[in-house]
Amino acid sequence: MDECIFCQIVKKEIPANIVYEDKEKLAFRDINPQAPVHILVIPKKHISSVLEMSEKEQELIGNFFSLIKEIVKKETKVKNGFRVVVNCGSDAGQAVAHLHFHLLAGRKFSWPPG
Ligand code: 5GP
Ligand code: ZN
Repeated sequence: MDECIFCQIVKKEIPANIVYEDKEKLAFRDINPQAPVHILVIPKKHISSVLEMSEKEQELIGNFFSLIKEIVKKETKVKNGFRVVVNCGSDAGQAVAHLHFHLLAGRKFSWPPG
């Protein structure tokens, strides 16, 4: 999976603005932010999408919400809420085939999403 851009970020082969890292998870700022806060939270292991998660991986991914809560508490620009988005497949516009949570905050978001 060497050509996967997020695997390359995990391996520090390409730079990223990292906000959190541990053995299993990495959070870094999106290169093309869609809001004042736009952070991507990913498993270090290459999992291509929500559809590819094993049961064990689902436990790990469930724990991502603890990390998201921690990040939200630390980000000073998060004032009145935030949005978490996981795109899966082409209809949702998933561009990078490495599972990632978008954490977006710092402005008002419309609903339904475009
Ligand atoms: P998707 O459309 O797959 O849900 O989201 C992929 C996200 O990855 C996009 O928001 C895009 O801006 C971001 N992205 C793509 N390449 C890079 C990169 O090299 N570095 C960082 N930090 N973000 C990236
Ligand atoms: Zn990957």
